[in-house]
Amino acid sequence: MQFDVIVVGGSYAGMAAALQIARARRKVMVVDAGLRRNRFAEEAHGFLGQDGRPPGQIAEEAKTQLLAYPNVVWTEGRAHGAANADDGFEVETGDGRAHGARRLVLALGVTDTLPDVPGLKERWGKSVFHCPYCHGYELGNGSIGVLATGPVSMHQALLIPEWGRTTLFINDAFLPDEEQLAQLAARGVTVERTPVAAVTGHADLRLTDGRVIALAGLFTATGTRPASPLAEALGCALDDGPLGPYIRTDPMKQTSVPGVFACGDVARAAGSVSLAVGDGALAGAAVHRSLIFG
Ligand code: FAD
Ligand code: MG
Repeated sequence: MQFDVIVVGGSYAGMAAALQIARARRKVMVVDAGLRRNRFAEEAHGFLGQDGRPPGQIAEEAKTQLLAYPNVVWTEGRAHGAANADDGFEVETGDGRAHGARRLVLALGVTDTLPDVPGLKERWGKSVFHCPYCHGYELGNGSIGVLATGPVSMHQALLIPEWGRTTLFINDAFLPDEEQLAQLAARGVTVERTPVAAVTGHADLRLTDGRVIALAGLFTATGTRPASPLAEALGCALDDGPLGPYIRTDPMKQTSVPGVFACGDVARAAGSVSLAVGDGALAGAAVHRSLIFG
């Protein structure tokens, strides 16, 4: 089937883009594998008008509203491939079918690589987080840990004291120099060098010497990468952010490949639901205009 636009990724960014395209009366297909990045969290915070709502509920309501437009086709599953075709692009879906479109929007999201510490992944999104704006307030100004994953964790350790008394667990991830130690001291951050054996209880850290440090919550900087290699397959340029690669876009969210747009977490150094929705709305309007003005 031929579409004006195919949107790959049907979460906040992809649906915000598709909504603009649908409202412009164009034929749009959304392909979605259903693995939202925040699916591990019980509440989403910081999205205006929806603060504290379960993230899946926000997405479900958006999907219901989007699918009320008859010119929207929703395909569940993963897009396995995308390539240039005669008059645009071709996207291959899980059922082996190829779908054509004049334009593409990549709203793939990112995949988090978590530190390999026993007990951590079970608590991801519940008492272990990466973003203090999303989950810092609920920790009630209690004791907070930062589990280092590399020098990038300095930034988190210096920021987190805004939300509670902070301990940086180095866990052999990097070696802070004198200047960094002075910066941490100036922010009142306790530095713990004994490696971490496991996360236990709510978010407590058991160290290799047997001590257990009780925490209200734990933050850690994850590595991120696009959730699918479709941008690379299409030849889109990537940029290197502090946490990992993301798709390069111009101010209207077009990638380095004309006709391919990208939005949300996959197209910025660090994201949120609000930013994904904003990026998606921009990409949706821009991709629609590109159908008219080239
Ligand atoms: P995503 O929501 O990740 O969606 C991408 C979609 O694309 C997924 O459905 C995926 O399956 C699909 N996809 C990928 N590749 C393909 C493919 N090849 N074919 C088909 N579909 C594909 N942000 C907040 O603002 N507030 C919070 O409280 C908050 N809490 C968070 C908690 C945790 C634990 C985590 C990890 C993140 C949290 N975030 C929060 C960040 C938030 O999840 C992201 O910023 C947001 O989900 C980005 O939206 P997106 O649409 O760009 O990507
Ligand atoms: Mg999306």
